[in-house]
Amino acid sequence: MTEAKQELTQRSKRSDGEPRPLARPQNPHVKISHMATHRLYYDDSYLQNFEARVLSCSPAEPVQGASGPQSAWEVLLDQTAFYPASGGQPNDLGVLGEAVVLDVRDEGDEIAHIIDRELPPGSVKGCVNWPRRFDHMQQHTGQHLLSAMFQERFGLPTVSFHLGAELCTIDLRGQEPSSSHLLGAQRAANQAIFEDRPVNVRYGTAEQLAQFGVRKQVEREGLLRAIEIESADLQPCGGTHVKSTGQIGVILLRGLSKVRQDWRVEFACGGRAERLATDDFAQLRGLTTALSCAVEELPASVDKLVVERDAHFKSLRSALQQLAEAKAAQLVAAAPAGTNGIRLVARVLRDVHPELLLPLATEIAKNERGVALLVLEESGQLVFAQHPSAGKDLSAVLKKTLATHPGKGGGSKDFVRAKLMDPRASAAAVELAKELTLA
Ligand SMILES: [Zn+2]
Repeated sequence: MTEAKQELTQRSKRSDGEPRPLARPQNPHVKISHMATHRLYYDDSYLQNFEARVLSCSPAEPVQGASGPQSAWEVLLDQTAFYPASGGQPNDLGVLGEAVVLDVRDEGDEIAHIIDRELPPGSVKGCVNWPRRFDHMQQHTGQHLLSAMFQERFGLPTVSFHLGAELCTIDLRGQEPSSSHLLGAQRAANQAIFEDRPVNVRYGTAEQLAQFGVRKQVEREGLLRAIEIESADLQPCGGTHVKSTGQIGVILLRGLSKVRQDWRVEFACGGRAERLATDDFAQLRGLTTALSCAVEELPASVDKLVVERDAHFKSLRSALQQLAEAKAAQLVAAAPAGTNGIRLVARVLRDVHPELLLPLATEIAKNERGVALLVLEESGQLVFAQHPSAGKDLSAVLKKTLATHPGKGGGSKDFVRAKLMDPRASAAAVELAKELTLA
């Protein structure tokens, strides 16, 4: 064991995610609090079972469980293999004795384990939920590699990292990554995975790490922990990582979006990448069944469907226009000329195509002194329209109508559209609008 590492195992505290000084080797008189939790995962991120001494256990704030708030206790141990949420990597879960670990928090020197029952003083056995932790190790190490490739090949530094429940993201600063940048970074990262390069933990001062060519310069004092991917990356980090790049499995990029001034790249590694690719293919298979074609024929089939849909839409519009013209002529002819020669058509439309409402009202309003007050019974959508020669104020009519039968809408003196909140008021609304128009 190197001197530096010995320093760490005896005195390690703090850290994770954000690099922190682990100790001050130049001052042999520094004493740390007896409460500082020794972080076993620093030296062995594969440790799943461990034994520790319970230093304290006290009631904590209730924790939100699946069925509401649940009682919780906070326990401090002399040492732990549980990783606390930090540096973009979520906390571990697992058990401590009979207690279920609900959360693990980094509190400076100490790690607080939030558990579901009280633990007696003495020794306790801990067990880390390994599938969850290993998934985090795959994603986190994959992130180091991917960030290194974006930086080294395209000069795009990573400014933040998030390990989510479904996908992981890094935010890159600089010019917009092109699709060849994305593909290039993915390919280079996967190449380093295929080469199964060792992932080492190194310790050094900020100056020493800078000499080694650390990717992210830090200005903290004291001994720092850094993660090295051989011939690829050296990055200060207190998280948990796999021991060689082969265990990352594979990296798949999933998306790119702009977030403030940065570029957010979504990705998934290892088991997550496998599940996503499997789900993608299942969806493709579902589409091939629906469209009766092979996977490679899908783009052409979808293109054909879009062209057909557009053509159908066009012919529907044309048919509705013809229908509107014929129906308007019929309705206007049937409407008796009222005072001042007004020809008022007030109708509740049922069982008609919703797209007929607008052209029908427009066609009615093309007739001299024609007024249309139309509403769709099913949806409560309404259109009032008039020929300018009718001389009414339909905007005022709508306002008064909506005062009695609430809804949202508006327009001009000659044309208004609205939607009633309650479609059951359609008939009453048209009747009221008719009275107001003729008043
Ligand atoms: Zn890391």
